[in-house]
Amino acid sequence: MFLKGKTALVTGSTSGIGLAYAQALAKEGANIVLNGFGDADEIEAMRSELAGISGGTALYSGADLTDEAAIADMFAYAAAELGGVDILINNAGTQYVAKVEEFPVDKWNLIIALNLSAAFHTSRLAIPYMKKQGWGRIIATASAHSLVASPGKSAYVAAKHAIAGLTKTLALETAEHGITVNAISPGYVWTPLVEGQIPDTMATRNMTREEVINDVLLKAQPTKEFVTPDQVASMALYLCRDEAKAITGANLSMDGGWSVQ
Ligand code: NAD
Repeated sequence: MFLKGKTALVTGSTSGIGLAYAQALAKEGANIVLNGFGDADEIEAMRSELAGISGGTALYSGADLTDEAAIADMFAYAAAELGGVDILINNAGTQYVAKVEEFPVDKWNLIIALNLSAAFHTSRLAIPYMKKQGWGRIIATASAHSLVASPGKSAYVAAKHAIAGLTKTLALETAEHGITVNAISPGYVWTPLVEGQIPDTMATRNMTREEVINDVLLKAQPTKEFVTPDQVASMALYLCRDEAKAITGANLSMDGGWSVQ
């Protein structure tokens, strides 16, 4: 349990990849701050399971990450209960698929706020404590879309390219403080986010569900296999280890070869 005594805040951890990060970090003894939306009873069951796995503390914050005041309140809560955040995983994100001339302005604003600006706010609030500790880990779930584009995803691709840039800058600013800042860029991972975009893609491209899965999603992924949330979480766990301390500012692809084409 190499993370015993450390606290990890994982944004968007009530589902999908974020929940897998929380479970992997808890297995190594980390205290967890869970965040995201969902059914209150289900979230409480996740929180109490995580506390059981880690043998430490698991807290839940329902902060809406598009609201910078709510993000500040979440950090104040983590600091009051657990001292501060040693490991920050910027994971919450959403998707919307439409051609740019039809892209709803409110969806653009939501995606930039949640997939990009939230990571600026969490990072600026986390780094002072990490600097004081002389240790910290910041990890973003970026995407293959931080490196390549797809039609219909202007806001998502813009936000994910930007988070790769933010990662590089934060890595340089923290390099002498025992803090590493990295992005993990998965290809398609089978989660509710991917499932949720299938109907829009069916409509945009006039395809069946099977055609979207095989000819759109997995078409770009040379392995023809979805990435799993556990694979992504195991990379984050590795980045938390001391032997990974030379890895900073990296954008680590886990996309079955998608972005090399
Ligand atoms: P998901 O939809 O399963 O989970 C998203 C999480 O974010 C949930 O916990 C949700 O409650 C939370 N969330 C949504 N809006 C929020 C808000 N305003 N404030 C706080 N929390 C909010 O999605 P996922 O597939 O696990 O995606 C997680 C991350 O991984 C995203 O950044 C996504 O872009 C990225 N990603 C996903 C894939 C994929 O194929 N699934 C691939 C590459 C990158």
